[in-house]
Amino acid sequence: MELDVALAQIRTIPDYPKPGIVFKDITPLLSNAEAFASCIKGLNSFLSDETVIVGIEARGFILASAMAISSERAFVPIRKAGKLPYETFSKSYGLEYGEDVIEVHTDAFSGHTCAIVVDDVLATGGTVLAALHLARETGVQVKKVLVLLEITKLGGRARIAADFPDIEVCA
Ligand code: AMP
Repeated sequence: MELDVALAQIRTIPDYPKPGIVFKDITPLLSNAEAFASCIKGLNSFLSDETVIVGIEARGFILASAMAISSERAFVPIRKAGKLPYETFSKSYGLEYGEDVIEVHTDAFSGHTCAIVVDDVLATGGTVLAALHLARETGVQVKKVLVLLEITKLGGRARIAADFPDIEVCA
């Protein structure tokens, strides 16, 4: 299946989880085997010298782990606060619909020098930005961020560029 046909499976749910939010629901894409495979193939085409794929909880896990398996790379989770059992770095950030804290294990990137960060949707950019700050604390290099879909009017790309001008955002 062509990537644009696969991406067309993403449905829009108005006023979820709050009035005024236009939610991009990827579950119809995931439940279509051809669409899911096409989107993972498309995401994998952005990979270069990264040896590890970072997924942001929760929907980023689905995409990043499928990419990791199919491209034979490692997977590292960035999780919501209080979910990782070992020592962590933490970062709080604002969401399009709330406030949150994400964490990564301090030793998550042992043996790796270059990582790619993956999530489903780029909205305000707060989540990805927090993930990039966490990755930087661990010492791993990130050259690219990969998302299935970008809500361009929310300005996430510019916010990322302000703090990380050398990181490419691919959508
Ligand atoms: P942001 O930090 O504002 O860029 O929000 C991105 C994160 O929140 C991603 O992990 C998305 O899964 C989720 N998210 C934010 N806004 C939406 C939306 N309109 N539709 C679907 N997911 C969203």
